[in-house]
Amino acid sequence: MEKVLIVDDSSTQAAQLKSILDEDYEVTVAQTAEDGLSYASSGNYSLILLDVVMPGMDGFTLLKKLQDEIITQNVPVILITSLSDIRHEQLGFTLGAVDYISKPFHPLIVKARVNTHIKLYRYRKQIERQSMTDQLTGIANRRQHDLYSILKWNEAVRLKVPFSVCMFDIDHFKSYNDTFGHPAGDKVIAKVAKTISSHLQRSTDFLSRYGGEEFVAFFLGGGAEQAFEYLKKVRQSVEDLHIPHDPSTAKWVTVSIGGVTLVPQRENSYEVYLKIADTMLYDAKRFGRNRVVWVNEKMEQWYED
Ligand code: GH3
Ligand code: MG
Ligand code: MG
Repeated sequence: MEKVLIVDDSSTQAAQLKSILDEDYEVTVAQTAEDGLSYASSGNYSLILLDVVMPGMDGFTLLKKLQDEIITQNVPVILITSLSDIRHEQLGFTLGAVDYISKPFHPLIVKARVNTHIKLYRYRKQIERQSMTDQLTGIANRRQHDLYSILKWNEAVRLKVPFSVCMFDIDHFKSYNDTFGHPAGDKVIAKVAKTISSHLQRSTDFLSRYGGEEFVAFFLGGGAEQAFEYLKKVRQSVEDLHIPHDPSTAKWVTVSIGGVTLVPQRENSYEVYLKIADTMLYDAKRFGRNRVVWVNEKMEQWYED
């Protein structure tokens, strides 16, 4: 069931709206804009019904805040008002509201408007999901990486938990393509993605195809050494697929992995740490490929011989 959030200081009005929508949606009521913002930030709602006039933070201010947050900016907001002032309507639309409902409420009209905007939102999410998925491997693509890296980084800053970023690159892949052809190379990329992905299944893990034969993963929790040990297993599981390589370069298809673990501070940036993971990957290649090189924030390094 889709979730709808009602933000309204009047409990009778909120109850009235809730009773209209209860049958079709899971409805939550927030009685202040502040509570509304914190519920909405969970990212769980498919539509927000927002009262314009409230004591403290008003509906317009909340709308502005929702529009500024990456998690909430696409959630449709319908404004509720008895204000017949056309300027309020204009302001609401300028700030990004999708529709208006005015009092007194007509249940059928409220339902119809809510249904329409939820349908559009669902459709939009579906398109978005497709545009964020890599066709060849079915995992997240670069676009999704760019979005989720910000979200997860901020989450790690807020929770003060260790954050690990790592980069994978298939070894000698140019020669694989030269020997077996590009379509065979594509199949290898898909198999490698599937194998790596099978090891990164926690809800706090994220894996993406970052470029041609390169993947980027990040995850929350655990120290550098723990991450290093885990990624060694992942690297081994790719080798254990025993995909024959061009014998002049390597026996099997393998990956090199570089990564970093740190507790992120607000002043740090994800990009800097992705660059460090890339440098560790470069070291892994330099040290002979098919290996993991890891580093922590004190620049202590772990690597496979
Ligand atoms: P290294 O071990 O240093 O990584 O050697 P490499 O040959 O893999 O070098 P590099 O990473 O620079 O080359 C990547 C090659 O991957 C180039 C290209 O032929 C191949 N490649 C990139 N994207 C794709 C893809 O989508 N499909 C296929 N089949 N090959 C790709
Ligand atoms: Mg590469
Ligand atoms: Mg490569």
